[in-house]
Amino acid sequence: MEKFDVIIIGAGPAGLFAAMELASQGVNVLILEKGSDLTKRICPAVEKRKACIKCPVCSITSGFGGAGAFSDGKITLSKRIGGYLSEYLEESIFEKYLKYVEEKFLEFGAPPRIFGTDTEKIEKIRYEAQKYHLELVPSRLLHMGTDKGLEVLSNIKESLMEKKVSIHFNEPALDLVIGKSHVMGVKTPKNEYRSKYVIMAPGRAGSEWTKYICKKLGIKTYTNPVDVGIRLEIPAEILRPFTDILYEPKIIYYSRNFDDRVRTFCVNPYGVVVPELVDDIISVNGHSYTYHHSENTNLAILVSTSFTEPFNDPVTYGKSIARLANLLTDSIIIQRLGDLFQGRRSTPERINRSPIKPTYEGAVPGDLSFALPYRYLQDIAEMLKALDKLAPGIAAPYNFVYGVEVKFYSARLELRKNFETKIENLFAAGDGAGITRGLSQASISGLVVAKEILKREGSDYEN
Ligand SMILES: Cc1cc2nc3c(=O)[nH]c(=O)nc-3n(C[C@H](O)[C@H](O)[C@H](O)COP(=O)(O)OP(=O)(O)OC[C@H]3O[C@@H](n4cnc5c(N)ncnc54)[C@H](O)[C@@H]3O)c2cc1C
Repeated sequence: MEKFDVIIIGAGPAGLFAAMELASQGVNVLILEKGSDLTKRICPAVEKRKACIKCPVCSITSGFGGAGAFSDGKITLSKRIGGYLSEYLEESIFEKYLKYVEEKFLEFGAPPRIFGTDTEKIEKIRYEAQKYHLELVPSRLLHMGTDKGLEVLSNIKESLMEKKVSIHFNEPALDLVIGKSHVMGVKTPKNEYRSKYVIMAPGRAGSEWTKYICKKLGIKTYTNPVDVGIRLEIPAEILRPFTDILYEPKIIYYSRNFDDRVRTFCVNPYGVVVPELVDDIISVNGHSYTYHHSENTNLAILVSTSFTEPFNDPVTYGKSIARLANLLTDSIIIQRLGDLFQGRRSTPERINRSPIKPTYEGAVPGDLSFALPYRYLQDIAEMLKALDKLAPGIAAPYNFVYGVEVKFYSARLELRKNFETKIENLFAAGDGAGITRGLSQASISGLVVAKEILKREGSDYEN
């Protein structure tokens, strides 16, 4: 039976930041990752520009680098965006760790392009947005781009290898080995490993597994909201005055009819739309590259719903909506915005007539109103109307909508301030713990756990 000081489950940013920190102090670390190594993460749908074929382990969300590996690499440097860590960390510590994460990404090769620093122009946009009941949430943002992000990950991997971190790919954690009240190791289909500490950082791809572990160990969980919506694809010029300054304009709108929170999310200037396999459903996402640009910008418009008693399964609810779109097309649906609001299906001919070209050819022309509940459609239509005043052309009838885009967040685990569970030396970090939703906060959560372990081991390492 192999022994390590610390076993980390998941090689996403939470797991990798924990590993880097621990290994820098000579700690013997094993990372178990259910997906493949970075260079072997190949998505057949993206490669062949075809519909998703539902691989047993999705290369987009699993493997070295985690869910963020093929992401646009937008590192949002804000406490308000990307998670709930401000509920756990003191403000000054949070600021310090945000800076640390920024510096680490730059050290590993992220291009030093920080958006969101021109406060004068940003204030102007913010005032203009207010006129249409839109709230702009300004944030500093480090943009890597998908291709540069992969180079950064490759450099992180090299650094971990130099520090003798063991990484076992295609080896999922199946179970934990628990002593009286403390963790003792991890079981996989291939082996059983022992360690004094275990960090669970399995991301959203591991949310079912985390649920199983929490149930078994009696760790309490709390549901997070579900986000349901569409991905909009528009000519890049329309949002250029915003994307040039902010890269990702984060805008919030409260709908008049339902008082729902509707927001822009994951804006990809000059990017491409991609399918995303989440468990057994196909949803939508977007990327943009540093070296290859399309003529379009894509962004999600999402409605957040927090269900109240007695319903507590938002993930199944969101999946059921996405499943309807999958049922109709065996893929994701593409529709012209004008067709959606005139209540008719888009056809390949109508799509071809648009002055812009869709960037994802695997989507099937259809009618999203058969899948999206009225409430969400209404919320999205209202926000688009308001946005069209701020950025004329964003709601043009020839623009495309893809759907359904659904964002599930793992249930939030009951954790101490240092992210330890009620089981001694068993920690949880990142999106899988339901406490983060983005690269920077996920990375910080891994860092926090690593620092706690180093402190317990009496390391004289500066905290
Ligand atoms: C397409 C896409 C684009 C995104 N774009 C951005 C962006 O631009 N900016 C941003 O801030 N955020 C973005 N995000 C979100 C961001 O990627 C996540 O918030 C972040 O990766 C979470 O980090 P994590 O380490 O907690 O989990 P993950 O990155 O999900 O990593 C968890 C890893 O654990 C592995 N795993 C799961 N279960 C097990 C198991 N049982 N045993 C072993 N391994 C397991 C998974 O395979 C995965 O590799 C994007 C997400 C996606 C999917």
